[in-house]
Amino acid sequence: MRSLLVSTLLALFVSVKGANFAFEDDQLTEADIGDFSDIAFGDATAVARAPRDDDEPDCREYPGSDDWPLDEDWSRLNRTLGGALIRGVPPAVVCYEGPAKDEAACTYLLRNTSSNRFYIDDPVTMFSEWPEGDTCHATLQPQDGENCTQGAFPAYVVNATTVKQIQIAVNFARNRNLRLVIKNTGHDFVGRSAGFGSLSVWTHYLKDFQYLPRYRVGEYRGRAARVGAGVESWEMFAYMNRWNITTLVAGGYTVGAFGGWMAGGGHSALASKYGLGADQPLSIQVVTADGRFVTADPTQNTDLFYALRGGGGSKQSYAFFLHSVV
Ligand SMILES: Cc1cc2nc3c(=O)[nH]c(=O)nc-3n(C[C@H](O)[C@H](O)[C@H](O)COP(=O)(O)OP(=O)(O)OC[C@H]3O[C@@H](n4cnc5c(N)ncnc54)[C@H](O)[C@@H]3O)c2cc1C
Repeated sequence: MRSLLVSTLLALFVSVKGANFAFEDDQLTEADIGDFSDIAFGDATAVARAPRDDDEPDCREYPGSDDWPLDEDWSRLNRTLGGALIRGVPPAVVCYEGPAKDEAACTYLLRNTSSNRFYIDDPVTMFSEWPEGDTCHATLQPQDGENCTQGAFPAYVVNATTVKQIQIAVNFARNRNLRLVIKNTGHDFVGRSAGFGSLSVWTHYLKDFQYLPRYRVGEYRGRAARVGAGVESWEMFAYMNRWNITTLVAGGYTVGAFGGWMAGGGHSALASKYGLGADQPLSIQVVTADGRFVTADPTQNTDLFYALRGGGGSKQSYAFFLHSVV
């Protein structure tokens, strides 16, 4: 059994219909964009700008910078997202002096932050404080001078449940020169799911799964599974048991089944027999940097398919895997 993922980047635009999960059929249209140019599609044929000199940093906007979106821009964005925009508030703000202080909420936090599940189910936090800079530490007794600041927690989060919302987020970030990050489970120790002043896309609730008894693409004929971007390894183990199949997933039960794990190679207990996770996808469905939703597989957008399975996980990447088939 191999992986079928779905995606494409900056290559041909292929409208993807028919073989998707329901959440993938809700896609951004020109009618949705109307006169809101901030969420307009990009130009996939545009030549990338040459890198600037080292002493000329190419900065993204950040809260307080001249062109940071106004509150009304964020409100309009939220309306186009159907209310899916969340402010990126550090959870432990409730432990510090200020309008949000809430001792009971802080106590709850201290009791629950020892569980992996807390970090996975929270839109902004990560497994480790390092990527955040430990700028808002949960404590009932802040020491002198200790306070809660934003650090690398994202400024806003899109709680994605449709492809359209991801397309809108990618387009808004690109058009307004914002830093874009992706949080799936928040396991990434290098901090890729965090970023100061960022707009984050949270893929946690893209949980769909489909067993495909007969699947064909390129030279492949056989069983496969279509897997949503938010599925975790433990959920895949349950599906393997139910359908009597084997797919490669991370040993850590709460690691995403096909997010940063696959983008970083994808090591597993079965690597010596079947190779790396990145070698498994049969097809990948992706929102690309220009906001299009496309398919990459052995027959279409093959350069992108190649890159997605070996390019590594980049902080600069704007390609979102929506689902995979393994
Ligand atoms: C407890 C634990 C156990 C682990 N076990 C293993 C293991 O057995 N084998 C192994 O190889 N690694 C393992 N890792 C490392 C793990 O694979 C990486 O930390 C990986 O980045 C986690 O990816 P994630 O999607 O779950 O988490 P996140 O931190 O949410 O995502 C990390 C990054 O991956 C990218 N990404 C995630 N989803 C998408 C998407 N849909 N589209 C595009 N990009 C995306 C983004 O850049 C994102 O910022 C483990 C880590 C931990 C903490």
